[in-house]
Amino acid sequence: MRVANLAGRLALITADGQRALDVNQASDRRFSSEPQQVYERWSEFASWASSVDLSPATPFIAATLGPPSPVPKQVFAIGLNYRAHAAESNFDVPDEPTVMFTKWQSCLTGPITTVELPAGGHTDWEVELVVVIGSFTYRIAEAQAWDHVAGVTVGQDLSERITQTSGPSPQFSLGKSLPGFGPTGPWLVTPDELTDRDDLELGCSVNGEQMQKGRTSDLVFSVSALISRLSHKLPLLPGDVLFTGTPAGVGLGRTPQRFLEAGDELVSYVTGVGELRQRFVAAGPSDQPAT
Ligand code: ZN
Repeated sequence: MRVANLAGRLALITADGQRALDVNQASDRRFSSEPQQVYERWSEFASWASSVDLSPATPFIAATLGPPSPVPKQVFAIGLNYRAHAAESNFDVPDEPTVMFTKWQSCLTGPITTVELPAGGHTDWEVELVVVIGSFTYRIAEAQAWDHVAGVTVGQDLSERITQTSGPSPQFSLGKSLPGFGPTGPWLVTPDELTDRDDLELGCSVNGEQMQKGRTSDLVFSVSALISRLSHKLPLLPGDVLFTGTPAGVGLGRTPQRFLEAGDELVSYVTGVGELRQRFVAAGPSDQPAT
């Protein structure tokens, strides 16, 4: 099952990704048109959706897709969750998922966007598998973790490295939450659609040149481990978004370093899920506060 936010309305997408069915209409208004609402009733929705007739679905414009979970209560993101990426960042792999930060809600967008590059910044790519939580999740075992997942999608943890690493006690969240810095999509894919939910290929390219390529089987903390361990710290809520970390190949870790420039096109994918497409433009003249 593929679940999308199509121009702000909840939709089911056909397996070929070409056609959409409006959930509110197809369910005779049983389910809200608001994409965020569905996570509060996920198991009921999933049960209905698994048997719905998709034949009335119609073609749609991909550019109108929004984030599958547009206004989650919480967004979690983890750093250093692939060994090769930790090595290129000159850090040891942590024993616990302690390198946690957030991407504030306002940075979340759909899959096909234009992103303004902050003036004087070093904006970098980080393709990631993103998980959306489907039920209240507190103090659960790893073996139960996938049962709490509504689905997965593709994410880009776009990161402005100067802001991310500045100050006496660097905090990641601000440099990773600039406008448009959290594209997700193109839709949510339920775990049952995946051949092996713990071994997905992901990668990204800039102007057609591959920059990252990895597999989620190389995660230091697997999706299950991450959810279980986080859930022993605090509750995860329906609709919460979890960026699971990026594989090696970010611009910061390259020699010479490379960052995104105006005119670049970044394409990110998770095989079996879909792709994101971001085009970058120079900052406007008003991104600095007046003094
Ligand atoms: Zn990241």
